[in-house]
Amino acid sequence: MQQSRADQHFSDMLKELEYSAAQLEKDLNNPVLKYNEVSRLKNQSDNFNSILLVSAKQQMLAYSPSSLGLSFQQTYGTEGIIESLQKKKTYISSPYWSVNNNLVIMMSQPIHGKNNQYLGLISGIIHLHKKNVLNEMLSNQYDYKNSYMYVVDQHDRIIFHPDEKRIGDKIVNNTGLGYIRKNKSGSIRLVNSRGVDNLAGFARIPSVNWTVISQQPTDELFAKANTLILKVSLGIFIFYLFIFILIWWISNFIASPLNRLARMASMLNQPDIQDKIKEVDPWYFEVLKFRTSLLLSSETFSHRISELKQHVNTDPLTGLYNRRGMQLFLNELIDTRTEFAALAIDIDFFKRVNDQYGHAKGDLVLQTLARFMQDNFREHDICCRSGGEEFVVLMTTGEPSVAYKASERLRKTMQESTIHDMGQITISIGISFWPKDAQDVSEVLEIADNKLYEAKHSGRNCTRSTAEQES
Ligand code: GH3
Ligand code: MG
Ligand code: MG
Repeated sequence: MQQSRADQHFSDMLKELEYSAAQLEKDLNNPVLKYNEVSRLKNQSDNFNSILLVSAKQQMLAYSPSSLGLSFQQTYGTEGIIESLQKKKTYISSPYWSVNNNLVIMMSQPIHGKNNQYLGLISGIIHLHKKNVLNEMLSNQYDYKNSYMYVVDQHDRIIFHPDEKRIGDKIVNNTGLGYIRKNKSGSIRLVNSRGVDNLAGFARIPSVNWTVISQQPTDELFAKANTLILKVSLGIFIFYLFIFILIWWISNFIASPLNRLARMASMLNQPDIQDKIKEVDPWYFEVLKFRTSLLLSSETFSHRISELKQHVNTDPLTGLYNRRGMQLFLNELIDTRTEFAALAIDIDFFKRVNDQYGHAKGDLVLQTLARFMQDNFREHDICCRSGGEEFVVLMTTGEPSVAYKASERLRKTMQESTIHDMGQITISIGISFWPKDAQDVSEVLEIADNKLYEAKHSGRNCTRSTAEQES
């Protein structure tokens, strides 16, 4: 309810009565005038439940509605009538019980005759327990249990309350009442007559000196506020989570081509690397530049490898690279920082083969092994005859398992084949890795030899690796 609107309304009601008083002053003995005025006041609006016109001697002069059944011969000394007649001016009563046993409040205006002689009063009665102007105006849209509004008069009597039983009661034990009395409007935390802690807002209606109080239990209000805070916090959390995921996704989207290219940069020796590089979508400048330079490097790498392959000396007996060739490849691998595995291979009991079948047959064994090696390893792996019946393979991989598998594959091929009815001839292999085992290349080769020595001592026909993959 808007306080100013209510004030206006009650002020209008008093004016309605005042206007009638002015009409009645003209001829208070005119029965038609009296009847018309009370009827008009009653029927022109729903402001009053009934209208009484009473003489200065408490005599009923006219009333409406006729269903009240009052007598014109009788005097009526209700609380409202007595007080209003005593005051002889604009009057608003506290709740009292009417002759018909209704809890009512009365608004009245004095009627003065000529010479300002007091003739009586015209009053509008509001029945507090019936449908009336107050409950029409304040009809509560809130749930009474939670938030509610009530009206107290100037004597702290309740004239409107959603709990009808409390209408007419005097307010006691309400800790906020003193403050409310002192101030025209405001808000206060109070303990109500039932001992419940409430937060209340209040406003005075000046025309009638009533106070409208709206209150809600503090606990409930806090509970509502807490729920609200929780909802808001959750909303903010979800919002930031969403933003975080979005940023993460975008940065991933931007970084992923660079990341892929960076990984490829260390695999330039792989045969299909150029196709892989070309698969990366160069959708922004940095990726485009990076991709182009990687493609160029990989092309240069492949080109250099094939060039070296053509020019270095090969061993005439086996067609594999000789020691010098091997050294050139080693330099190239170090220059391009390409990690590799060194496989040192030695034929088992080769002296015996020579002794038993002759040197020529021995050479045949060397040639067969060289062919097996070339079939066994990939294009980018470098197969060398490092001396006599000793071989080295430089595998362009840093993966111990890849090197070990390739080694074992060759060893088994050798073991399972018979060369010119010479029976089973086997090989032993030692594996080391650059740069994992040593920074120095000759050291790496030495480590591979040590591993080969280990293989020989473990009974030959086996592979030993520094990565201990074989165990
Ligand atoms: P192990 O299992 O310990 O390796 O025994 P092995 O008999 O193979 O011993 P070792 O590796 O020391 O043997 C090297 C022999 O290889 C010496 C030599 O007779 C033979 N050899 C070296 N170069 C050639 C070659 O070009 N042709 C032939 N047919 N034999 C060679
Ligand atoms: Mg040897
Ligand atoms: Mg040998």
